Amino acid sequence: MTSDRTLRLGAVVPRTRAEGPGERFAVWVQGCSVRCSGCFNPHLWGPSLGQEVRVADLVADAVSAGVEGVTLLGGEPFDQAPGAAEFATGVREAGLSVMTFTGFVREYLEGPKSPDGADRLLAATDLLVDGPYLADRRDPHRPWVGSTNQRFHFITDRYRDLRLDVLPDRLEVRVGKDGEIAINGWAGVDQLDALLADVAGSVGRGRVR
Ligand code: SF4
Repeated sequence: MTSDRTLRLGAVVPRTRAEGPGERFAVWVQGCSVRCSGCFNPHLWGPSLGQEVRVADLVADAVSAGVEGVTLLGGEPFDQAPGAAEFATGVREAGLSVMTFTGFVREYLEGPKSPDGADRLLAATDLLVDGPYLADRRDPHRPWVGSTNQRFHFITDRYRDLRLDVLPDRLEVRVGKDGEIAINGWAGVDQLDALLADVAGSVGRGRVR
């Protein structure tokens, strides 16, 4: 039976090389209760903003994108764990890998006060990156993370051989037909500000943790 469950999203990039290993379908969920000081995505904090989509439709879009896997980021995926878990389970059944970012720590997500559905989302995740962004602990060395407290958890064997020490951070810039510029990926704040100073028009940033 097809579920009518929905997810509230801030953005989707169907094909990116900047949000995890290989080419990925990236989903920024809308809403974040963690609210790290210095977060680059405060426009994704409000839980009633963004757009509501059917999980079944999102799974179909991800599978048809022809990518290696999906990445869930935000916003906070575990604030919508039941829907995010259903999405992750669906794409994994189709053979895609799942990478999930969270501002919570894994111990909380596995503990007695974890959000509803957290166990299912963890069970459907191959690679988990946990921990809040701490602006005073910037990490210039590892890919995809913003601060040194954030940890990579190889929950399955799928990415256990990943060489984090040689993988680069990437920044992708997209120019829409209407001239709007959107950026996703990770760069240092100074690099990002220098880049943005050079571009005109309205700018929407993707995930930067
Ligand atoms: S960095 Fe991530 S977890 Fe922290 S406030 Fe921003 S969106 Fe939420």
